Amino acid sequence: MLPRRKTRQVSVGDDRVGVVKVGGDAPVAVQSMTSGYTYEIDTCVAEINKLAAAGADIVRVAVPEKKDTEALKEILPQVSVPIVADVHFHFKRALEAVEAGVHKIRLNPGNIADRKQVEQVIAACKERGLPIRVGVNEGSIIERRDKQKRMKELGGVFSDNKHGHFLAIMIVKLEEYLDIFYDNDFYDVVISAKSPDPTLVIDAYTEISKRFDHPLHLGVTHAGPRETAMIRSCVPLGHLLAAGIGDTVRISYANDPVYEVEDALEMLYCLGLKQRKGVDLIACPTCGRIQVDLFTLVQEVRKKLADEIALPIKVAVMGCIVNGPGEAEGADVAIFAGDRRGIIYVQGEKVANVPEEDILEALLDECRKFEARVNAGEVKLGEKVVEIAPPDPIGELGSGFDKIAQGDVDRLTDLTIGGQ
Ligand code: SF4
Repeated sequence: MLPRRKTRQVSVGDDRVGVVKVGGDAPVAVQSMTSGYTYEIDTCVAEINKLAAAGADIVRVAVPEKKDTEALKEILPQVSVPIVADVHFHFKRALEAVEAGVHKIRLNPGNIADRKQVEQVIAACKERGLPIRVGVNEGSIIERRDKQKRMKELGGVFSDNKHGHFLAIMIVKLEEYLDIFYDNDFYDVVISAKSPDPTLVIDAYTEISKRFDHPLHLGVTHAGPRETAMIRSCVPLGHLLAAGIGDTVRISYANDPVYEVEDALEMLYCLGLKQRKGVDLIACPTCGRIQVDLFTLVQEVRKKLADEIALPIKVAVMGCIVNGPGEAEGADVAIFAGDRRGIIYVQGEKVANVPEEDILEALLDECRKFEARVNAGEVKLGEKVVEIAPPDPIGELGSGFDKIAQGDVDRLTDLTIGGQ
């Protein structure tokens, strides 16, 4: 991981919904966008609040029509996160959104006909202290008539890059756009340069980060269904974030946007860029040693723990005791399965040995008790790791099919901890 690139900082929000800082030394903010019509007020409010509950720091809404900006007046008092108005083509929607009290404007000067119109939006935002995101997304750069001239001007700057011509246009367009803002003494600009092509996303943001000190809004646009878009998004965004590039992220799915928030958060947790909320669950992929229905167990554990546990307890669900301890390194609570039973450890101490059908409830119980002890200050997260010193308890659980075949399983699995 490289250190975060230093940028200017902008503020999004107000006293009522709270202010989210983007850029500078602020944590990377997670954004998403509502999928329904903004003018359907109740549905829009419900969707915004659902995204906020899932962990979105900022939510964007589209305002293609006047009835959408009218709706903002009623939506804004009912939500608890900063709202961005997404404007294309109609500068008046931006002015109306500012008037309604929105917290940020997303604008693509390339699809607003007149520089004076862009300047009116800048003046309105400046008066209210609102930032503007300037997008040069691949799909919305529409002024390509001058491509050849631009390419000549830029010469061979990007000649060794497969996206060279496009990077050149993006940079030139950004310079053009930013000049409008700078000429109007406006600097609270966030930049985005999205594309459906992950390699172009990496190249574009890398080049932009070298040339501009504005915060960067990362995203892969029109990424597709979650099943494929997760990888399409997290690979380039993770690459950029690990290189210290990026100040706010939006993952785009053709699906419920709550998934966008969940997956963006998980990406930031994995990179250590955000403090995890809730359980950090690891699980083995299973192999020929497995003797319980681990896949079902893991899904049940995941859902139950997400509902019940607020602390970032590291929980490991391992299919066997052979390799499990090594793979569960650092877990606060761990279950090792074998011979249709499971042994549960809490910070290295064996606390239960239960039959398969009781594993889920016993594990949840231990997680609840452990969380209560952490909250009471009796123990700390990550204080002790799972340590199983040889000889390992495989003799107790039984090593699998050989012991089953030998008829030893009943005797072995009768063993319990502390008379349980
Ligand atoms: S923990 Fe055991 S069952 Fe799971 S993958 Fe490792 S060796 Fe296989």
